Amino acid sequence: MNICVYCASSSAVDALYFDEARRLGREIALRGHRVIYGAGNIGLMGALAAAARDAGGEVEGVIPAFLKEKGLADGALTRLHVTPDMRSRKQKMEDLADAFIAFPGGFGTLEEVFEIITLKQLGLLDKACALLNINGYFDALIAQIERAIRERFIKEAYRGLYHVSPTVQDALDYIGAYQPGAIGKDWGIADADTGAEVGG
Ligand code: AMP
Repeated sequence: MNICVYCASSSAVDALYFDEARRLGREIALRGHRVIYGAGNIGLMGALAAAARDAGGEVEGVIPAFLKEKGLADGALTRLHVTPDMRSRKQKMEDLADAFIAFPGGFGTLEEVFEIITLKQLGLLDKACALLNINGYFDALIAQIERAIRERFIKEAYRGLYHVSPTVQDALDYIGAYQPGAIGKDWGIADADTGAEVGG
């Protein structure tokens, strides 16, 4: 499988995040999967890519031309895709991926994973999406989503659009066992069109 990982470009974060990013890269490779990511050679992104490579895995990066020109692309990738801009880059990552993992990160990571969840909500995409909740990093985000569900901004059933994983193993097990098909049938655009209330 091609597993797209969204994660921090920051190099200033605690060492524990680097350890887990390396664990994720290594484990993806050892399970015979390929990493798809933002092609960066910095921060958690760079650590993840290096660990996957060191474990014998393949690593494919997708970077917009303006970041490549700044020298931010990893030089040792199995394959590097250069896109004209950020939007086409995200599209390329989505097209290449069979599943998605959001690792702790900043605005870029949050924006990328919420786009995937939103596409799933609309029935436009049906691939596994796991939030890797290392060190409880996503706890506050999950609490915000729970509030949105409580106040009926989000349907209860949409909790199923993503899976919160406490460990790397759990995230990869979830992805491996994911069965597509549920979303198009019960949720998404068809329901919005008819106005039918489902799930929530
Ligand atoms: P952030 O979470 O704000 O650090 O942004 C990281 C996410 O945005 C990654 O998953 C990348 O896809 C993208 N990104 C941000 N900065 C870079 C960079 N310097 N090189 C490559 N990708 C980046």
